[in-house]
Amino acid sequence: MNDRAKGRRLQELYDYDRSTVHEIVDRAMICHVGLIRDGYPVVIPTIHGRVGDTLYIHGSTAAGNLNDLRKGVDVCLTMTIVDGVVVARSLFNSSMNYRSAVIYGTSRVVEDPEERDAALRAITEHVLPGRWDDARPASGSEDRQTRIIAISIDQASAKVSDDMPEDEEEDMDLDFWAGVIPISIVAGTAQPDPQLRADIAVPGYIKGYRP
Ligand SMILES: Cc1cc2nc3c(=O)[nH]c(=O)nc-3n(C[C@H](O)[C@H](O)[C@H](O)COP(=O)(O)OP(=O)(O)OC[C@H]3O[C@@H](n4cnc5c(N)ncnc54)[C@H](O)[C@@H]3O)c2cc1C
Repeated sequence: MNDRAKGRRLQELYDYDRSTVHEIVDRAMICHVGLIRDGYPVVIPTIHGRVGDTLYIHGSTAAGNLNDLRKGVDVCLTMTIVDGVVVARSLFNSSMNYRSAVIYGTSRVVEDPEERDAALRAITEHVLPGRWDDARPASGSEDRQTRIIAISIDQASAKVSDDMPEDEEEDMDLDFWAGVIPISIVAGTAQPDPQLRADIAVPGYIKGYRP
């Protein structure tokens, strides 16, 4: 690891272990891809998938950001999971509980059919486990319209904040409420497409979907 991924404040919250980074990558629904375009920074939200130490993103061959990434550029990906609002007695000590990852790597376009297949499977299963084997596979023309970009993790840091507020000793007797409001993403009941054939039941992996 070089200095790029080294946290500066609150060292105890940082974790450079790849397994912690992988856990956050897998749990986060989306990532943000940061790159320099025409000399300016741009950060684009997108879906991702992971195979080992490689992250995959995909999209239309017409998408501007994927076209830039095709050229093999330095990228920074971030994933964030918000777990709670930390309500301290003082505004200064109020914060959030979260798990986040910041990943550095170089982009690479994926052309090998086997790797493309593995990448699309990883992205699909990341969003909705069980779907890869329960949908029509992409046609040749759909495949040709899809660009896949790989980013091997070069350096990475994870940061996990999971605590009650840390108020000053002299604030502990104040009259203000303190604690944590837990936050989580919850899936609602799946809404069938109005044009769905009546004989198709909701699959178990959709009924039981937990983001
Ligand atoms: C949750 C989520 C998941 C997504 N998943 C995918 C995916 O898997 N694959 C995929 O190709 N796209 C995905 N997108 C869309 C993606 O963010 C881009 O919009 C898309 O890649 C097309 O970009 P473009 O070529 O139009 O613009 P680009 O050339 O990439 O960007 C040009 C400009 O358009 C603006 N812009 C681009 N995207 C956004 C945006 N999302 N919101 C606001 N402004 C924007 C920015 O100002 C940017 O500088 C996702 C978006 C979200 C929010």
